[in-house]
Amino acid sequence: MANFDIEPAFAAKLDWIREFVAAEIEPLDTVHAAEEVIYDKAHPLHDQVIRPLQQRVRDQGLWSCHLRPELGGQGYGQVNLAYMNEILGRSAFAPTIFGCQAPDTGNAEILAHYGTDEQRVEYLEPLLAGRMSSCYAMTEPHGGSDPSQFTTRADRDGDTWVINGAKWFSSSFERASFIIVMAVTDPNVSVYKGTSMFLVPAHTPGLEIIRRTGVGWDDEGHGTHPYVRYNEVRVPAENLLGGEGQAFAIAQTRLGGGRLHHAMRTVGAVARCFDMLCERALSRTTQGELLARKQMTQEKIADAWIDLTQFRLQVLHAAWVVDTKGAHAARREIAGVKIATPKVYHDAVMRTIQIHGALGVSNEMPLSRMLLASVTMGIADGPTEVHKITLARDVLKDHQPATGDWPSEHLPARRAASALRYPMFEGRDEH
Ligand SMILES: Cc1cc2nc3c(=O)[nH]c(=O)nc-3n(C[C@H](O)[C@H](O)[C@H](O)COP(=O)(O)OP(=O)(O)OC[C@H]3O[C@@H](n4cnc5c(N)ncnc54)[C@H](O)[C@@H]3O)c2cc1C
Repeated sequence: MANFDIEPAFAAKLDWIREFVAAEIEPLDTVHAAEEVIYDKAHPLHDQVIRPLQQRVRDQGLWSCHLRPELGGQGYGQVNLAYMNEILGRSAFAPTIFGCQAPDTGNAEILAHYGTDEQRVEYLEPLLAGRMSSCYAMTEPHGGSDPSQFTTRADRDGDTWVINGAKWFSSSFERASFIIVMAVTDPNVSVYKGTSMFLVPAHTPGLEIIRRTGVGWDDEGHGTHPYVRYNEVRVPAENLLGGEGQAFAIAQTRLGGGRLHHAMRTVGAVARCFDMLCERALSRTTQGELLARKQMTQEKIADAWIDLTQFRLQVLHAAWVVDTKGAHAARREIAGVKIATPKVYHDAVMRTIQIHGALGVSNEMPLSRMLLASVTMGIADGPTEVHKITLARDVLKDHQPATGDWPSEHLPARRAASALRYPMFEGRDEH
């Protein structure tokens, strides 16, 4: 039986997190663009504000809670993390201050599993300590969700690997100390067996930014998701992570937990939209009465509450399956929350924008950024359609085709079967 109770000791931690995020972190969101600061460890805000706040998080035993205990995590479990991430999801700076910022979380998992001792010292330790940023480069400009189109190659040359090709939407590339790059090492087999993962230190000769790609509000030519060419980029043989042909197995290590944690934080963003919606409904008067008294507003509020409650429970349930059966057994649940995340978030933002009128779409509210963030959730880490295909295929494994010409719920066939079991009722058809 699923149990989402919160232990009193952890409830006290959640109270601390709630107060700390509201008082110390949310104010940062209004004075700095998080994406320009969090990956740039040399930015003065890190020494001035972020590192002291990170220390307070460490002192509470709340730093990098997603990690396994042997890597410095606390082993609180995913259900507790769901409650925690829900609070962190209210602020763009909060994940960095709590040591759980993507893509560093997933890259740390990869290095922990597949890095050499030297790589762990050089990259994993500073990454886990929040002193370094990292980048993950899988997507190519001509094909993101279909890896069979990937053309970036890595070829062995003596004691080195030589990488040639292009990647794009390599988030935080310019601030990263290293990039984890996916490249084809054997084009003669399926991409799922012929692709490998490499650790490429930043500033390795041959890395060239073609364009600085941004998202909606960035000026053209500015942004943190660049298009990058790899021109004869040479790395030592030991920078192959996890063996040849292992890239997709490794990618799964990285993505499963990350998707669930994104969903947990989205619960927080959706709850924030709900609070804005209700506040506005109770604050704005039009045609002689509060918006809250209008039935179409009431419908919005009821729908928003139902969506938030269902989504929160779906995320908690997926977290509980991970805790009780392991991440592998929770693939279906994780795919389900990945699919639900952009839709629930998008609907929540749209209702909240609508009720705020012009103010809702203005640059004086966080909602237009949230709208783009919701759309992004349906594209990054694989588009919704691909996850729906995976989920449907998995679900269908539990089902069988009908044995004859008719579905098993076909009433005449069922009635005939009932007549065999209960002959005394034969001929009585009251439906
Ligand atoms: C903000 C942001 C950050 C990102 N950061 C990174 C990063 O750090 N590293 C990285 O490697 N990548 C990153 N990405 C890229 C992301 O992973 C890709 O955008 C994603 O995998 C989709 O690839 P694509 O953009 O090439 O879309 P395409 O593969 O061209 O797909 C476009 C659309 O086609 C449809 N579609 C695709 N496949 C199917 C299908 N099988 N059935 C039906 N319809 C389908 C979907 O509607 C999909 O959205 C990021 C993306 C965003 C938006």
